[in-house]
Amino acid sequence: MQNLDKIVALSKNRGFIYPGSEIYGGLANTWDFGPLGVELKNNIKREWWKFFVRENRNSIGMDGGILMNPMVWKASGHVDTFQDPLMDCKDCKHRSRVDKLIEESGTWKDTKKRPEELSLPEMEKFVFDNKIKCPACGKVNWTGIRFFKLMFSTDRGVTEANLNTIYLRPETAQSQFVNFQNLQRSSRLKVPFGVGQIGKAFRNEITPGNFIFRTVEFEQMEYQLFCKEEESMKWYDIYKKKAHEFYTKRLGITDRNIRFADHDNLAHYAKAAVDAEYLFPFGWGEIGGTHHRGIFDLGNHQRDSKKTMEYKEEGQDPFVPTVIESSHGLDRILLATLVDAYNEEEVAPGDTRVLMKLKPSIAPYTVAVLPLQKRGLTDKSHELFDTLSKNFSVSYDETGSIGKRYRRQDEIGTPLCLTVDYETLEDNSVTIRDRDTMKQERIRISDLIDFINRNIV
Ligand code: ATP
Repeated sequence: MQNLDKIVALSKNRGFIYPGSEIYGGLANTWDFGPLGVELKNNIKREWWKFFVRENRNSIGMDGGILMNPMVWKASGHVDTFQDPLMDCKDCKHRSRVDKLIEESGTWKDTKKRPEELSLPEMEKFVFDNKIKCPACGKVNWTGIRFFKLMFSTDRGVTEANLNTIYLRPETAQSQFVNFQNLQRSSRLKVPFGVGQIGKAFRNEITPGNFIFRTVEFEQMEYQLFCKEEESMKWYDIYKKKAHEFYTKRLGITDRNIRFADHDNLAHYAKAAVDAEYLFPFGWGEIGGTHHRGIFDLGNHQRDSKKTMEYKEEGQDPFVPTVIESSHGLDRILLATLVDAYNEEEVAPGDTRVLMKLKPSIAPYTVAVLPLQKRGLTDKSHELFDTLSKNFSVSYDETGSIGKRYRRQDEIGTPLCLTVDYETLEDNSVTIRDRDTMKQERIRISDLIDFINRNIV
């Protein structure tokens, strides 16, 4: 976990991610994204949007609301089943998800049933009968079992007597489902077509943690492909491969740190499902998934809303399309890019630099403008910043020695540094330094935009 601790510290010190509400003692497992974090996040979102939405003739995007009619969550099954069984340790107050507690205790021997398939009283009895210990303090002193709803609810209403429970969405996908007819009619796209969306989701997790891996508020990037049932497995395979390409080619995450884990136990409506996992310092963790959802979602909304979800095309019988979902957690992917990029490199005996080897196209800053001295070089440097910042994300730093400034940029992953010196005033050239090779060359300012564009891929 040493690596994760270093990343948490660097994130705070350099402005990627801060603990939420810190001056009031924080709010457990909430985080704020600082100046570098927001740039990195936006760059990942932009790459996802290009890859999943814009670069496909059969794809469109949308941006649904966080609050939806509670009927949506009834139909989707979340109101009744999106909950975890929990027990608290009376001694140390540690909270445990009971099915995981049973599974991880090694006492479960029934091969036909999984712990999560037990009823609440069965789970509770099993924990008491087998004297399962609290994983935090080792004592056996449990409260009774209860369900813990994972959806955050809030009240909406003008007077207290007229309160309605509404929910903060636990996933973004339902907007694509409830808008299926609007999306299809307004875009006039034919099946197969897909709809992407990026937005916040909220889950009242029992055991949040591992920095931004499991939080209560996070962002998802979700794409729903509507297709014919007979073509659905072909699309499932295509989207599984697409997820791999997105992580490795578009975001530059190392291939050997990604694996795909098929679900052993499928939902009754699903033909296939796979999790994409990244090797974090705390082990493999899910960053996304490709799911065959059958007609479960559209079928449920058709049943409960009594509005048709059938797709009609001339010469064909109307049908409810099958859904292939490509779902990605933005915060977990961002954490994976940081973990993956973090390097400590010995540049000379006894001299180590921290190098964030982010793919240049997603680095928070593409270039840094560094005047060698403040005296006499400020106007020229400002001019350069103003020109470049119309095209790229640019950092401006004039404090400290040039060597220290290079190191600061290495640490946050800036691929190119431009040094403005007194010669610049004569020849309109700057020194350009490459983050990874540390090689420097002289280049004319008029050639810079082309050069940067060629080097930022
Ligand atoms: P897990 O098993 O880790 O709880 P999940 O299977 O419930 O995740 P999905 O419902 O498939 O997750 O959500 C899609 C994606 O949203 C996940 O792959 C993950 O990247 C992200 N995600 C889910 N829950 C959280 C969370 N609490 N914090 C951050 N990201 C999350």
